[in-house]
Amino acid sequence: MQGKIGLEEHFAIPETLQDSAGFLADESWTELSARLVDIQERRLREMDDNGMEMMILSLNAPAIQAIPNRAKAIEMAKRANDFLAEQVALRPNRFQGFAALPMQDPDAATQELERCMKDFGFRGALVNGFSQTDTPENVVYYDAPQYEGFWAKAEQLDAPFYLHPRNPISSWAQIYDGHPWLMGPTWAFAQETAVHALRLMASGLFDRHPGLKIVLGHLGEGLPYNMWRVDHRNGWVKAPKSYPAKKPLADYFQQNFWLTTSGNFRTQTLIDAMLEIGADRILFSTDWPFENVDHACEWFDATSISEADRLKIGRTNAVDLFKLNV
Ligand code: MN
Repeated sequence: MQGKIGLEEHFAIPETLQDSAGFLADESWTELSARLVDIQERRLREMDDNGMEMMILSLNAPAIQAIPNRAKAIEMAKRANDFLAEQVALRPNRFQGFAALPMQDPDAATQELERCMKDFGFRGALVNGFSQTDTPENVVYYDAPQYEGFWAKAEQLDAPFYLHPRNPISSWAQIYDGHPWLMGPTWAFAQETAVHALRLMASGLFDRHPGLKIVLGHLGEGLPYNMWRVDHRNGWVKAPKSYPAKKPLADYFQQNFWLTTSGNFRTQTLIDAMLEIGADRILFSTDWPFENVDHACEWFDATSISEADRLKIGRTNAVDLFKLNV
């Protein structure tokens, strides 16, 4: 398929590059680091060779979210966003941008989101899970009350918010002790991000702000497979719900969430996601440079779905959600 658009596509600036070290074997670092710092050359060739018209670019992980010092997080986010704006301006028909946000400081994150949307025409934000705030051990999730103003602004700006994974901090990760292979994209990323998404759903955030649009990668971090059970466990007890949100959590999943195919190139899993959330809410993505553009595209171009759904997932859902001028 020609004209595909991807939206979990990362780059690094020199100050955040090392955040991506350690996820792959050391012998892959030369290649991975070169992929991360490139935007206009190798990346563009990969896109051209595989029928990708556009990438909406985002900073690597955890980057801003792992800078406990608020002033430093704010400064680094601005630096990354300024750089991304320059890169997008070189080829706006091929690249668009997501804002990196210093969520450690909700007011600063709100201002930075507005600056990036209004001054740079960014298409929303991509945030790498919880933020370490003031100290490395102080972990803040975005269902906390201090984010009310941030979410109100995101809704007002109609800015989709991509909740991207990160690893749990080590003092919170006893379940992975002795099994470092479970960290990162193998398992820990999805667990961390799925729980964060459930916290947002259960908090009542989407009752207060029904227009919010949250994007999850990796075909939903396992949630499509498990949402029914979240709402229906122990059905015979008829227990009252035990969280502030007004509706069953699957209602919010279906009304406020969009999923991408990033890093999860599996037809069976895609079809399960389509059955749970619908083809209108699934968007193609690769997770470059951690995954290959050709692996994502060769799978997606051939996967056994209707051509109408391929066009939606590969392109038109992204055009609609991000109001792309293509
Ligand atoms: Mn990613």
